[in-house]
Amino acid sequence: MRLLCKHCGCSYDTEKDPFIWRCACGYSLWADYSATFRKSDIRREDLSMWRYDKAYPIKKTDVSVSFGEGLSPLASICWMGRNLLVKMDHLMPTGSFKDRGVVIVINYLKNLGVTAITEDSSGNAAASNAAYAALAGMDCSIFVPSGTSQGKLAQTRMYGAQVHEVKGSRDMVAKAAQENIGNSRYAGHNWHPLFVQGTKSAAYEIWEQNGFRAPDNVVCPVGNGSMLIGAYLGFKELLNSGEVAKMPRMFGVQSANCNTIHRVFHGLSVDYSPAPTVAEGISLYRPVKTDEIVQIVKETSGSVDAVSENEIIDALKSAGKKGLYIEPTSAVAFAGFSRLILQNVVSENEMTVVIVSASGLKATDKILTLL
Ligand SMILES: [Zn+2]
Repeated sequence: MRLLCKHCGCSYDTEKDPFIWRCACGYSLWADYSATFRKSDIRREDLSMWRYDKAYPIKKTDVSVSFGEGLSPLASICWMGRNLLVKMDHLMPTGSFKDRGVVIVINYLKNLGVTAITEDSSGNAAASNAAYAALAGMDCSIFVPSGTSQGKLAQTRMYGAQVHEVKGSRDMVAKAAQENIGNSRYAGHNWHPLFVQGTKSAAYEIWEQNGFRAPDNVVCPVGNGSMLIGAYLGFKELLNSGEVAKMPRMFGVQSANCNTIHRVFHGLSVDYSPAPTVAEGISLYRPVKTDEIVQIVKETSGSVDAVSENEIIDALKSAGKKGLYIEPTSAVAFAGFSRLILQNVVSENEMTVVIVSASGLKATDKILTLL
């Protein structure tokens, strides 16, 4: 498989460089891989994300490490008087959407004989990598920001990973992980080019669960954008395969306290001081795929918005009253959807999907302070 840098145009061959995760120029790498997928390609006997394995660079026959991830429910709720479909990825094996990408990366590394990995995360990817590494029999070393929700830390430690809490920004956490890889391999989900090949699976599931149609709009929280990028790539493949008639508009939502992509999208200065946010999962000052995300959102006629802490907390509580116990990061997307309604960006007869990033059970210590 070839890996491409969209910044400088360099490409790499995974046969020669199986462990490369960043271009020599410092920018991120993308797998030069796009599937053609038809309804008849679904493995109907498989009730997991692997029923769409023709869409991934790793096939079901290559997978030895799996919890049967995927096929999370697509619930229909009423939000501000509108019908809303909710992709409930808080019900994935480790309680977050990250399992979709991690299962691809871990199996890729396992098949190369890797026995130890290092990862940095704000918490969800930490738990996910730790769980899949445990199942794979790999050693796992995780770097997290100090102050990460106790639920995520307890979960990661329960899976047997070594957890290193790092003081400072999320970017400093990533740097600490990359400088302390030792004899392991770096599995950083924000960087690894195969991660978004797994998060594509959410688009395939939404397509099938929605009667083999694309929704009009997809709304999701955006930190480093792997959920938004995956959904875009999946629907793009379905469009190119003739299985959906149009692309959904992609709407990314950030916290106003940490909103680099929002600023770039709107042509604002990115020279700012990020402030703490209750949405810890998207608290990234320097996302590694900012330009690509902005391009995706513009291509689909979507937008990137940024919501206040009060809007996030209000949306979290409103989601709870709909029976959804989600982490505050996920509430960012619901707050964004509320704005889209108020701004008449989405009309009454449009079909919108909000993707949930993770379970509220991971952030109970923080949610308790908001009640
Ligand atoms: Zn490059």
